[in-house]
Amino acid sequence: MMKEYIEEAEKALLHTYNRYQVVLDKGEGVYLYDIEGKKYLDFVSGIAVFALGYHNKAYNDALKAQIDKLIHTSNYYYNIPAIEAAKKLKAVSGMDRVFFTNSGAEAVEGAIKAARKYAYLKDGHKDHEIIAMEHSFHGRTMGALSVTGNPKYREAFEPMIGNIKFARMNCFESVEELVTDKTCAIMFETVQGEGGIYPAEKEFMEKVKALCEEKDILLILDEIQCGMGRTGMMYAWQRYGVKPDIMMTAKALGCGIPVGAFLMTERVAANSLTSGDHGTTYGGNPLAGAAICKVLDLFEENGIISHVNEISPYLEEKLDGLAEKYDMIEGRRGIGLMQGLVCKGPVGDIINNAMEKGLILINAGVNIIRIVPPLIIEKEHVDEMVDILDKCLAEM
Ligand SMILES: *Cc1c(COP(=O)(O)O)cnc(C)c1O
Repeated sequence: MMKEYIEEAEKALLHTYNRYQVVLDKGEGVYLYDIEGKKYLDFVSGIAVFALGYHNKAYNDALKAQIDKLIHTSNYYYNIPAIEAAKKLKAVSGMDRVFFTNSGAEAVEGAIKAARKYAYLKDGHKDHEIIAMEHSFHGRTMGALSVTGNPKYREAFEPMIGNIKFARMNCFESVEELVTDKTCAIMFETVQGEGGIYPAEKEFMEKVKALCEEKDILLILDEIQCGMGRTGMMYAWQRYGVKPDIMMTAKALGCGIPVGAFLMTERVAANSLTSGDHGTTYGGNPLAGAAICKVLDLFEENGIISHVNEISPYLEEKLDGLAEKYDMIEGRRGIGLMQGLVCKGPVGDIINNAMEKGLILINAGVNIIRIVPPLIIEKEHVDEMVDILDKCLAEM
């Protein structure tokens, strides 16, 4: 049965993904089921999206109620779910102004536009530069791709948007070297995701922030993957005490409803995008707003962030155990429930084997096993994951 669906998919869908040979059907907590009824422990959560676990009744009920009331209007009118969502998002982030998008990449696009407009209003020039990082990932649209530090993703689609330069993450000198009087923003992921789970170092963050303040350059932090409690704080930058001028959030923000947002301080908001500068048909519609509200409420009611802080040391200890046991693992990197096992070779076979054994994992780059489970995992799930992964590694 599964085979036929996969064949149909490969005839109808554009082949832009090498998908795992599984058709998923339903989810329950931290488990997924394929259409043949096989159960999988999910340590990917749709790539850091389904933080609250599958089939969450409170979340589903809130969405169903909103669907029956009003799904969409337009950004030419106000709606209560979006207003409430913006207020809640301001409260948890400490930022001042919110623009809702439908995805992470669109949040990145908006951030780039805000930074360019801010600089344009200052000096009237049109050739401002952005410094991004090597190994970064910011999405697949043209602007987001332009700041993505992976030449393989960019090459066939050049020319990119201009005036982007790439520095090395955690190497302040490499950033400083690239700064000119045209630099309008320095952008990076607080913890790099796709590029290999590289957390920013505190000193790097602090030095970049000081440089930004000195030269009136905007600090833009991409919290799309590492945000929403994954590192044990709502946003990873809060761990460092280094506040951005603009930040992006998405993925777990809607827990499955496609939403994103870019947020800024009042100072940037007052001196950048204004009426007519930016828009979206769907962004912040009532359904999206209801999803964000419920997600943020459930984070609070269920103490999700303190749970992440409780469970993470256990996960780290278990992963370190594997790293010690197996020569093929060089080590572990990451913060909280965003971890990477760095291997000496490609990890594709390990991930395929895990899937056979009922465990869903994903890579980050060729040789890193990425661990980004739902934030509600318990010790028993960590044990189950480590047992299966241990067997897979033993068979290599
Ligand atoms: C996933 C991701 C994006 C892109 O988000 P989409 O919703 O896929 O457009 C951007 N930045 C980071 C850090 C991401 O992990």
